[in-house]
Amino acid sequence: MPKALIATVTAGASSAILRGHPWIWRDAVTRVAAGAKTGDAVTIHDPAGRAIGQGLWDASSPIAARIYARSVERELDAGVLIAAVARAFARRDRWKDDPETTAYRLCHGEGDRVPGVVIDRYGEAAVLRFDGDAIAVWLSSLAEGVWPLLEALGVRSFALRSARGEGEERLRPLAGGPIPETITVRENGVAMVVDLQRGQKTGAFLDQRDNRRRVRELALGRRVLNLFSYAGGFSTAAVLGGAEHVTSVDLAQAAHATAQVSMRANGIDPSAHAFVTADAFTFLESAQKKAQRWDLVVSDPPSFAPSEKSRPRALTAYRRLHGLCAAVLTPRGILCASSCSSHVSAEDFATTLDDAATGRADLSLVEMHGNPWDHPTLPGWPEGRYLKFAVLA
Ligand code: SAH
Repeated sequence: MPKALIATVTAGASSAILRGHPWIWRDAVTRVAAGAKTGDAVTIHDPAGRAIGQGLWDASSPIAARIYARSVERELDAGVLIAAVARAFARRDRWKDDPETTAYRLCHGEGDRVPGVVIDRYGEAAVLRFDGDAIAVWLSSLAEGVWPLLEALGVRSFALRSARGEGEERLRPLAGGPIPETITVRENGVAMVVDLQRGQKTGAFLDQRDNRRRVRELALGRRVLNLFSYAGGFSTAAVLGGAEHVTSVDLAQAAHATAQVSMRANGIDPSAHAFVTADAFTFLESAQKKAQRWDLVVSDPPSFAPSEKSRPRALTAYRRLHGLCAAVLTPRGILCASSCSSHVSAEDFATTLDDAATGRADLSLVEMHGNPWDHPTLPGWPEGRYLKFAVLA
């Protein structure tokens, strides 16, 4: 192998890498080649000087390097990265020609062993998003190598979504034709309108696909409250499942507009339902005072715990939220509570739904779902299991 830069790590970090953990924290690096720059390929050595993997160096992040190859047979270059993306695409073969589900995550970063590389497919459009500066250095060779793989799937346009606050133009074309502003995709047979230009993340929260289907199955004849409703994925699912009435609550008015377009695309008249632009906590407090009740409550807030430090505060917020949800739930009601905080484990999350939190003694935990197939995690990387979806009945 040519003289790649070497980074030596502690025994603890070495064993984590051997178990498949993709991150090396800066304080676990005992020695690194002088002049290593963000984006440089580094060979990772254990304290005995054995090469145990290859990663990309980040000169400023608390994560000093992320692992892209456990093998050291072939030097880490664009070809290795593109092969890893191709492996990720192959994991989604089941959806390749499925007309019922045309939007899914093609590459889920660390969970697919390509740290920081997220590629979401929305029908004929694909959106790339990076997490971390090291991988971003490889943009042009990565985009060039991935484009033919996307074309083979039937994708016609490819764009880069910059993270929030990275300039005005948030979608930058990479290959193919111009990316549409909005696109209508299907998810388990349900039409979903996605705002690619202004929507959150890459446009939609694809990780809730199976849970939206679950809500559809549970909604028959029920009055439904969908909190943090965004583009109305759970609301549309509930109406299609036979809900009597659906109230959607979100702080963002623009999200309600998209939700209504999605409903119409499914033959639903949105004026038969309620869309409330409000803070969910305030809404719940006032609903409780007015003794309003729903038979099915869905809660899918943004992450309350962006860091390990904020975990205790996040758990308190979830408890308070779940108490308010339970207070507006009818006696035979169903509560679907979700969390996307990677610092909150499924066990932690269950504690925020206990009797003291909900103020009820009649609810059982009947289901707990985690990441879906297209958002895989690594057994040796518990941080990846961020999604929790609890059903209480
Ligand atoms: N359930 C959605 C995704 C929710 S994302 C889906 O299936 O696609 C989280 C949403 O919560 C965002 O739309 C955001 O605007 C909204 N939000 C954030 N804080 C809020 C608050 N305090 N009250 C109500 N909505 C809030």
